[in-house]
Amino acid sequence: MKIILIGIQGSGKSTQGNLLSEKLGIPYLSSGHIFREMAKEKTPLGRYIKETITAGFLISDEKTLEIVQEYLGRDEYKKGYILDGFPRTVPQAERFENGIKAAIYLKVSDKEALWRLAGRDDENREDDTLHAIKKRIALFHEKTEPVIEYYRAKGVVHEIDGEKSIEDIHSEILEKIGMV
Ligand code: AMP
Repeated sequence: MKIILIGIQGSGKSTQGNLLSEKLGIPYLSSGHIFREMAKEKTPLGRYIKETITAGFLISDEKTLEIVQEYLGRDEYKKGYILDGFPRTVPQAERFENGIKAAIYLKVSDKEALWRLAGRDDENREDDTLHAIKKRIALFHEKTEPVIEYYRAKGVVHEIDGEKSIEDIHSEILEKIGMV
């Protein structure tokens, strides 16, 4: 089963993605995590990724597609996956050919997301400055909301109130994808 999670930073995608992964026994993959790992490499590509994510901008569609598709071609993703953070733009969605069964949109307000992120202390995320977070939220509205419409037209979007409890959201997702 191929599932994508869509939502602004702080909407709970990684929490829900990991819960779903455990429940369904299919791997969870976060494009942001891949890029944060690559940003540690002392190569021109590593430096480009580091600068881009630190500023809160998006990696180019070209590079993103190349990198994410390479991951998804690996054996462990053959039976399906739960993707967090990709596709994030319409060109990425268009060029990402696959049979997505469900696009879960975790909807939280910008205010709630900022509130949650202000209280988060994730030492692995050097890219979490307030400036970068605000930039990412703005880019979500500009570039990623059209992705929701793209998948809505395909009839696979399930919109979920991301401000409920973790357990309620998890149950609702399972219900929407027909796994209960
Ligand atoms: P995230 O962990 O999803 O918030 O991603 C962290 C950062 O990685 C983003 O701010 C972008 O710079 C980059 N990134 C992650 N996924 C994508 C994507 N699909 N397209 C472009 N850039 C991405």
